[in-house]
Amino acid sequence: MDFSKDTFLNHLAPTSPFPFLISIERAEGVFLYGPGGERYYDMISGIGVSNVGHRHPHVVKAIKDQVDKHLHVMVYGEYIQSVPNALAKKLASLLPPTLNCAYFVNSGTEANEAALKLAKRFTGRTEIVSCKKSYHGSTHGSLSVSGNEVKKNAFRPLLPDVRFIGFKDHDDLSAITEKSAAVIMETVQGDAGVRIPSKEYLTAVRRRCDDTGAMLIFDEIQCGMGRTGTLFAFEQFGVTPDILTIGKAFGGGLPIGAMIAARERMKVLSHDPLLGHITTFGGNPVCCASALATLQVIEAEKLLSTVEEKGRLMTELLNHPKIVAQRRIGLMFAFDFDSAERVNRIVEACKANGVIGYWFLSNPHSFRLAPPLTITEAEIKDACRVILSAIENS
Ligand code: PMP
Repeated sequence: MDFSKDTFLNHLAPTSPFPFLISIERAEGVFLYGPGGERYYDMISGIGVSNVGHRHPHVVKAIKDQVDKHLHVMVYGEYIQSVPNALAKKLASLLPPTLNCAYFVNSGTEANEAALKLAKRFTGRTEIVSCKKSYHGSTHGSLSVSGNEVKKNAFRPLLPDVRFIGFKDHDDLSAITEKSAAVIMETVQGDAGVRIPSKEYLTAVRRRCDDTGAMLIFDEIQCGMGRTGTLFAFEQFGVTPDILTIGKAFGGGLPIGAMIAARERMKVLSHDPLLGHITTFGGNPVCCASALATLQVIEAEKLLSTVEEKGRLMTELLNHPKIVAQRRIGLMFAFDFDSAERVNRIVEACKANGVIGYWFLSNPHSFRLAPPLTITEAEIKDACRVILSAIENS
């Protein structure tokens, strides 16, 4: 076993000068375990991934079964493979008829890249409208439509023809016009600190897109797959997008994303130009097996029906005068404090006492929690006791 800090710091490229730096040897359910027997509650699900917990036995079995049959056999879109077929059919059965066709990719940002390309190709337009404070990924296209200026400036020039509107700002909707190929937004903004729109706002966005012919893209990479209490967050707002992007928890712990739209629209990516969007590993059969098994777990264990109750219990338990504000939808939480420094102290104290909580990319004075949907009442109580004490002592 090599848990050398030196190797980690010198031979793995850093993303920040302050990595979290705990060592993990194995994971099971809501727990991560270190090589020295340390145990941590993963109250962030590896940033929105482990919605059915770590190494769910049904998911692990599906992965092993597929490994025993075949791994990669061909690039995306050529050979008929049983498990990707079954996954696409399952998704179609869970989504409205206008979202009946999935393009499998390898990550969240790739799903958004594909969505932007589909919208440009389908409408013949170039402009993309996105929201301030949004996060859509780190590749050039997704970064171009993300709202955080500080993260973007060093990488310009980015995509031209991108306009930003205020999320939840009705007045700004006039910026969506006949020039707009697409409007991309997170149904619930995640890295901005769990910003929840109203039904009226998303309905108005939908209407404006219908009036102007812009395609509406909902990015549910973070808020999808049961996180908010419904399989897809948009179900709670009564608004259906033209394109849906998913990732993170979709794969149950393996890397897979999807860009989902109507078959009639999706087909434009296959001509003029031929092979307009291609990927080697998208739809990898092992990742598809893991994703299909994850959907089966969500259904079989009736996880969605437990999310609201668990969310409410956590809200009740995490009640403290130092919390300035709290935003929650399902099991997706942001707790605002008076300073980023206090949030740091809370994260560190939680870590020292066996609980992982975290920050948000674009909202440093908020504390982030999003536990696996499989967490039990007893586990919630135990983890929240540690978190509450970290808040008390912060
Ligand atoms: N969209 C949203 C809403 C996200 O939260 C993320 C990841 N935090 C992404 C896109 C990018 O996903 P990935 O890191 O898999 O590229």
